[in-house]
Amino acid sequence: MHQKLQACTELLHGGRDPARHGGMVNIPIYRGSTVLAHSLEQWESRKQPDNPYASYGRFGTPTTRALEELITHMEGGYRSLVFPSGLAACTHAILSVLSSGDHVLLPDSVYGPTRAFAQDTLARFNITAEFYAPQMGSGISALLRKNTRLVYVEAPGSGMFEMQDIPAIAEQTHKVGAYVAMDNTWATPLYFKPFEHGVDISIQAATKYLVGHSDALLGVVTTNEHGWPLLRKGAYDFGQTIGPDDIFLALRGIRTLPLRLQQHGNTGISLAQMLSQHPLVARVMHPALPEDPGHALWKRDFLGASGLFAIEMRPMPAPAFARFIDRLHLFGIGLSWGGYESLVLPMDAPKRSASSYQPQGKIVRIHAGLEDCKDLMADLQQALQSAIDYLKVAESKPEAII
Ligand SMILES: *Cc1c(COP(=O)(O)O)cnc(C)c1O
Repeated sequence: MHQKLQACTELLHGGRDPARHGGMVNIPIYRGSTVLAHSLEQWESRKQPDNPYASYGRFGTPTTRALEELITHMEGGYRSLVFPSGLAACTHAILSVLSSGDHVLLPDSVYGPTRAFAQDTLARFNITAEFYAPQMGSGISALLRKNTRLVYVEAPGSGMFEMQDIPAIAEQTHKVGAYVAMDNTWATPLYFKPFEHGVDISIQAATKYLVGHSDALLGVVTTNEHGWPLLRKGAYDFGQTIGPDDIFLALRGIRTLPLRLQQHGNTGISLAQMLSQHPLVARVMHPALPEDPGHALWKRDFLGASGLFAIEMRPMPAPAFARFIDRLHLFGIGLSWGGYESLVLPMDAPKRSASSYQPQGKIVRIHAGLEDCKDLMADLQQALQSAIDYLKVAESKPEAII
């Protein structure tokens, strides 16, 4: 077949081979450490230039390979490698490029644990991490130093969903011969094509939408041809590997990614629009809303929105806020996102050092799950209403409030 397939068709037909697996539709779970060779000749032929033991369970199985190939294709990169968590993917992508004495730039809006790793752990290896205002586009050139090896981007950012002008940042970064790495978890490779926008290394916390069912932890890094030898060396030298059951769950999740993402995205926008009209909500942070400061960049570079965004509440007494959160029936309170179920996460003000933002009220991150949008809207409305009712009683009869 020579026609170019649409993304959802590719994701259903790629990474499997029924003829080789007894006709089974899905690639089986290969377990194993030892991979036998049938002759000395085959054994010798398996050796690779910088990895004489290329055939060993630690470097993956046919199950692993299927997932990596599917993701490489989706991202439009050269090769991918899996990691045991999204964070491991972020840290190993960073480490694979940097050496002692190097300088790395990260956006102020970077995922919190990546920030902690850069600040604390990289410092122990004499690597300087500097944070920059995420809205900085080509202005990043002023921060590039002779020893800058990597500029990290993440859009929209964790916590406050700031957008970044990735092509502008990539253009400046490449002028000084440094790499651009991106955490592309929010959009997934379906809604943002990193390699078409100047990114060299793309990272997915596959735990989120790729797995999609909150039942496995997994990360993936994809590079262009230029970045591949560094990533491979970094991952292999650290002995990074991952068990086949979680890979299987990711493969299963990916088959339905386009459909799920569409629903997550549509519901997320509907909820964000509804919340932006609510008297208890001061601000909605969602780049697909036309009033969002990052909207123009999102519209220019992204192909869709996923289901994660945040709101800043109007300042209110703690018990009123607790009413809102505790009265939600369909939204769980918890970390992570990208599963089929809706979540809220009450957050502290995100850490910022290169940009300032002091929220007046509480910030709540919302993940729109796959429930019917009308049910989610009604749930949010009634929970917000119980916070309003609380405030009214508190105002008129403070003695009635315990
Ligand atoms: C969750 C997340 C990660 C880390 O993924 P884990 O699988 O939880 O380690 C990295 N980046 C972003 C943007 C995330 O949301």
